[in-house]
Amino acid sequence: MVALLTSAIGTGAWYWHARNVSDANARFRAVASELEADLTRALTQDGALLAGSAALFRQGTITRTEYSSYLQAVGFGTGRFSEIHGVGLIQSVPGDGLGAFLREMRADGIDVSRVTPSGVRDRYCLGSYADWTDLQASIPLFGYDFCTVPVIHSLLTRATDTGLQQVLPGSRLGPLYASDFVLVQPVYSGSPTSLTAREHEVTGWALAIASGPQLLRSLPLDSAVQFVVTNGPGGGPANDTTLRWPPSTTSGGAWSTIADLHAYGTWSIRLRPAPGFLLGDSLLIGPVGLLIVGLLCVGLLTALLVNLMSARRRALQMVRHATTSLQVSEERYRTLTGSAPIGILEVLPEADVTYVNQRMADICGRDAGTLVGAGWISAVHPDDVAGMLSLIDRIRVDRTTAARTLRILRPDGDLRHVRLSAAPKSQDPATGYVVSVEDISAEVTAHEELAHQALYDSLTGLPNRALFSDRLNFELARRRRDGLPFAVLFLDLDQFKLVNDSLGHEAGDAVLKEMGQRFAGGVRAGETAARFSGDEFVFIIASGGDSREATSVAGRILALVQEPVLCAGRELTVTASIGIAIVADDTDATTLLRDADTAMYHAKEAGRNRYALFNEELHHHSVERLELRADLRLALTRGEFEVFYEPAVDLATEAPMGAEALIRWHHPTRGLVSPLEFIPVAEDSGLIKPIGHWVFEQAVSQLAAWDALATGPHLSVLSVNVSAPQLDDPATAGMVRDVLERYEVDPRRVSIEVTESVVMADSGSTLRTLERFKALGTRVTIDDFGTGYSSLAYLHRLPVTALKIDQSFIARLEGEDDSTPVVRAIVEMGHAMELHVVAEGVSDGRLRSLVCALGCDAAQGSFWARPMPPDEFVDWWENSTSAGGVIRFDGGRGEARIASGTVEAREAISP
Ligand code: C2E
Ligand code: MG
Ligand code: MG
Repeated sequence: MVALLTSAIGTGAWYWHARNVSDANARFRAVASELEADLTRALTQDGALLAGSAALFRQGTITRTEYSSYLQAVGFGTGRFSEIHGVGLIQSVPGDGLGAFLREMRADGIDVSRVTPSGVRDRYCLGSYADWTDLQASIPLFGYDFCTVPVIHSLLTRATDTGLQQVLPGSRLGPLYASDFVLVQPVYSGSPTSLTAREHEVTGWALAIASGPQLLRSLPLDSAVQFVVTNGPGGGPANDTTLRWPPSTTSGGAWSTIADLHAYGTWSIRLRPAPGFLLGDSLLIGPVGLLIVGLLCVGLLTALLVNLMSARRRALQMVRHATTSLQVSEERYRTLTGSAPIGILEVLPEADVTYVNQRMADICGRDAGTLVGAGWISAVHPDDVAGMLSLIDRIRVDRTTAARTLRILRPDGDLRHVRLSAAPKSQDPATGYVVSVEDISAEVTAHEELAHQALYDSLTGLPNRALFSDRLNFELARRRRDGLPFAVLFLDLDQFKLVNDSLGHEAGDAVLKEMGQRFAGGVRAGETAARFSGDEFVFIIASGGDSREATSVAGRILALVQEPVLCAGRELTVTASIGIAIVADDTDATTLLRDADTAMYHAKEAGRNRYALFNEELHHHSVERLELRADLRLALTRGEFEVFYEPAVDLATEAPMGAEALIRWHHPTRGLVSPLEFIPVAEDSGLIKPIGHWVFEQAVSQLAAWDALATGPHLSVLSVNVSAPQLDDPATAGMVRDVLERYEVDPRRVSIEVTESVVMADSGSTLRTLERFKALGTRVTIDDFGTGYSSLAYLHRLPVTALKIDQSFIARLEGEDDSTPVVRAIVEMGHAMELHVVAEGVSDGRLRSLVCALGCDAAQGSFWARPMPPDEFVDWWENSTSAGGVIRFDGGRGEARIASGTVEAREAISP
């Protein structure tokens, strides 16, 4: 009977309860969705005000009056946005734009003379427009640098990066703003689509400060519901709670609903019924219900009474057991923390330390005892103390974990970087916090090193190209602002390849390093010496309006370079060429560098180890060179090249013996362009390879074609000039072999001419190509001999067959600065090495006799003939060799008739 009654009572009670719960849930859902709609409306309204401001600021410069009119028009200050205390603009101002910003503020009647907090920074985030309904005297908004407040800085960064409105709960700013929240929206100059573009184009942030309670007051709130609102979807970070209802609600605990609200970005709301919700109006208990509940309670009470005694016994047992296990666990905890690889502190709510583990003491370089109490604060770097206390403050308010990095200052002055994570020991604030401290000094150092590597050259330690161009842009911006003139110097070490090739790359590096040190010490504070690339260095130096200061600095740097360098056990003398460009009014960084580079090339062309000042003429010269390069590209296909032949005679018999092939360019508008002008351009641009190939094939085919003529000319040797890039190219020797094979020409009849400076400048690839020529059987002549400082020992090792004395020595024979001793020495040295010695540039009979007397074996020059097109060459040869033929010489003034091809016959009738 009792069982029946109890089950009936139970079923009735369960049914009654289930119905009420379902009613209550339905009502809660209705209230919640109404609330969500109201909140979305309110937040959308605030978001729209901000979006409107941002759109206005995007237009560019607007006046403060225009801004106020906008606010008036949308109803700000009329009660419509009662929750918003104030709106304004934070402007992103680059370090060099600060002066202009302050001037502009003052022009608008706002008396700001400097930023707050003061200091020089790369970028400022300055309050510049404001409309405050209650402008607190404590906020000196105008000229205030918001980026100096870390939480605001990260808020602005987040807004910039996402392009969306972002919210900062006021509690993050301190207790004064605990019930407020800050809304920002980035303002861009364009419509950036990528992260980098957003960073570049952000010009400021529209700002609104709203009061949470005020916003809630404008909503019809239901006391039966509790909620918290955070910025961000899916519940958001709990410590970012922006709105809470009722005000005492914390974000902890269980929530029955989490929903996203969409109002200029996503918010999320967590809702739950207020305690007692189930006992609301739907829970009126009727008399029957009361009876049922009464019976149930009586039953339960009886059961409880029966169990009470045994429960008490069990409870006592459990307490005893719990105390023991607490002791064990406390001991285990101490052992664990004592040997933990991270520092651990236990801190009371007032920031006093009660426990420090050994690792923490090690990190701080102090005894654990000295850190207990308030002592540990003295271990924190003074600049970081405030940040650390605010962290503790934050967990005190939010009861959540928080982290930050800060610096520990050891008694020996050593700085350690640590990452600090603090968490409340429990939900009870009185229990304090546990702080774990991780030494991240190595990580920070690695980061700093990486940052350093990104901006500094690892070999010389000088700023690299990226940092240089940053500084150059900075100087240009400064110049635009305050008109301070400066100059850019572009330095290239002369023939640095020679150092690398002959002494090895290590020696080359040592020279660069030494130069880096000299340059770093050679510029004044505020000036820059940087490594641009390879052996190129660049400088930014202060200069007066004219070039005097810049040229004197360039002279000083040249002197620094020239001081002997001790390298690989020997003393080296290095020189450099410097180009100087003085900044002009409308210059940009690229033009300045290009001008300095152009001037540097000019310094090289003018003979190296000097500086050259950029001027328009140089610019013209370099433009011309560029045009020439463009035309040169087309010259081969357009058939604008031709090969001329300059005869060479055997000085013993005076008989023509061979010729030198010399290229000519018939330019469509410039006429005949000298190879002296275009070969260097072809070498620079890489075009010399196809051109050189063409010349070689043209010359060899001509030789074969003449061979096929019964009348000749039958040349014993044909010389062809080959440039440095061709010698550097391993394919050249193969090309030479192919051509010779194709035209069936004996390799011994071809002499390849390479200039002395080229042979001396390279010991690797050039030498290999020359060896291959030798293996093919061609002759090799060192051209322009005497100009390239050959070392005799080195010459001896080269696979060469002839020396061609440079025409500058021939021209000075018995003249001013008489070169006779040099020529004599070259002839003697050449003969001692069993080399054929040729004189070039023999332009008259006097020189002919002199080179003859000095013992040259062969000669060429205008005394016999200038380079000629093939047809003329054939005529000339025929005249010069056939019995009775006529040799014209001395520019046509002399004429010789040849009886037997011997010199006697020629001399007999020379004038
Ligand atoms: P180079 O090989 O030393 O050629 C001799 C230069 O002296 C030629 O100048 C020739 O015209 C000039 N010359 C001849 N007789 C006299 C004279 O009596 N007095 C003076 N002052 N000069 C005389 P060109 O043809 O203008 O060539 C200049 C240079 O251009 C050549 O000097 C050579 O280094 C280079 N070059 C010419 N053709 C080629 C070529 O096909 N390939 C390469 N790589 N270089 C070439
Ligand atoms: Mg030559
Ligand atoms: Mg020459």
